[in-house]
Amino acid sequence: MPAIQLPWYEQRDVGDGIKQFSQPYIHRYFAANFFHLRGRDADLIIDFGMGLQPLRPLLDVPPDKPLIAVATHIHADHIGAFHEFETRLGHPLEADAFARMSDEETLAQVFRELPNAVTQPPCPGWTPEHYRITPAPLTRQVGEGDVIDLGDRQLQVMHLPGHSHGSIALLEQARGILFSGDVIYRGGLVDDLACSDKGIYRRSMERLLTLEIRIAHGGHGPSMDQAQMREIARGYLQGTAAMATAQ
Ligand SMILES: [Zn+2]
Ligand SMILES: [Zn+2]
Repeated sequence: MPAIQLPWYEQRDVGDGIKQFSQPYIHRYFAANFFHLRGRDADLIIDFGMGLQPLRPLLDVPPDKPLIAVATHIHADHIGAFHEFETRLGHPLEADAFARMSDEETLAQVFRELPNAVTQPPCPGWTPEHYRITPAPLTRQVGEGDVIDLGDRQLQVMHLPGHSHGSIALLEQARGILFSGDVIYRGGLVDDLACSDKGIYRRSMERLLTLEIRIAHGGHGPSMDQAQMREIARGYLQGTAAMATAQ
């Protein structure tokens, strides 16, 4: 089989010095968005995709400029290439899981068993059975209210559990930008995993209902404005209201 030339990652400028990456050949369940932000003193990458092809060499960052990698949460579709980065940030509730990268915690086995996991192999002879995630212990733990400083841009960590225990979003308040990972996005939200908690998820949605933003870049699907984000949060709260009154 000849070497595969197609660009595995699609890159798109979404404004505000942000590049959005997608992975068009991966099954839609595992085809997450991730983002590269340019700052004055450091760059930031938020999530990293499945890691089916090397990612770090594709990023346009000067060799002497710090690059901070922050994981929104532990699932395979977001953290496959986390280990390629030297500075790795994530929430303490998932710190052990990042160091282990077990199939159960990352859901890697779900990907391996998925029919049509990819529509093109990432390299010749690749098959899903060989998929493994390299452990990526955190070099810094970040939680609610912590700030990631890029010099001219500051991103504040919001701990918004429910989809998973250590799910975080990053808020750049000065520009009204939220990076919301799998907490909220346009598409079916997932709250029935072993690591999910619907009651806690509701509290995270209540926080998002009052958050002032201009745009939210989600871990899946197209980006949202404030009205769209609040609509999704309201929909979740209404859909789970019966459960809340039963508690
Ligand atoms: Zn997830
Ligand atoms: Zn996801």
